[in-house]
Amino acid sequence: MKAAVFIDKDGTLIYDVPYNVDPDLIVLQDNCIEGLKMLCDSGYKLIVVSNQSGVACGYFSEEDLFAVEEKLRSLLKPFGIDLAGFYFCPHYARGIIHEYAVDCYCRKPMPGMLLHAAEVHHIDLANSWMIGDILNDVEAGNRAGCKTILIDNGNETERLPGKFRVPSMTCHTINEAADCILNHQYA
Ligand SMILES: [Mg+2]
Ligand SMILES: [Zn+2]
Repeated sequence: MKAAVFIDKDGTLIYDVPYNVDPDLIVLQDNCIEGLKMLCDSGYKLIVVSNQSGVACGYFSEEDLFAVEEKLRSLLKPFGIDLAGFYFCPHYARGIIHEYAVDCYCRKPMPGMLLHAAEVHHIDLANSWMIGDILNDVEAGNRAGCKTILIDNGNETERLPGKFRVPSMTCHTINEAADCILNHQYA
């Protein structure tokens, strides 16, 4: 079984433009390419896991997100970085599109996307990591049994407490997170 690094999209992998699906507005964060490349070359599967409540709210469709995935792949491919997977949760209990307006197990902080990806890709969750910019990402990772890194870039403003909401480590960029994962033994 392989290990994965699950990565939140908005505010972690790319700059957050709320409810954006326009590929032209998708820009990778600074200080992420080298880290992603090192993780990929070290055998970690890189898997994006993203809450996309804009589907349930009627702002865009699931099909629009396929273009987002393609854009991400095209930004990473020139560096030899392969995304093993791209998963999104289209649900939101207070959404207006009936079939998506449900309580689900995939919307972070719940771990459904990670658990599903782990089955599909035969991933060893205990040796895998979740990287995100808010504590809901950390909670999803911890609930899935992964180690977790909070990218502390100012996007987490509430810091609600909870037993699953404590990251294994805190870093400032994906490059720094990759260095921590690869070079600092974490027990
Ligand atoms: Mg985020
Ligand atoms: Zn969901």
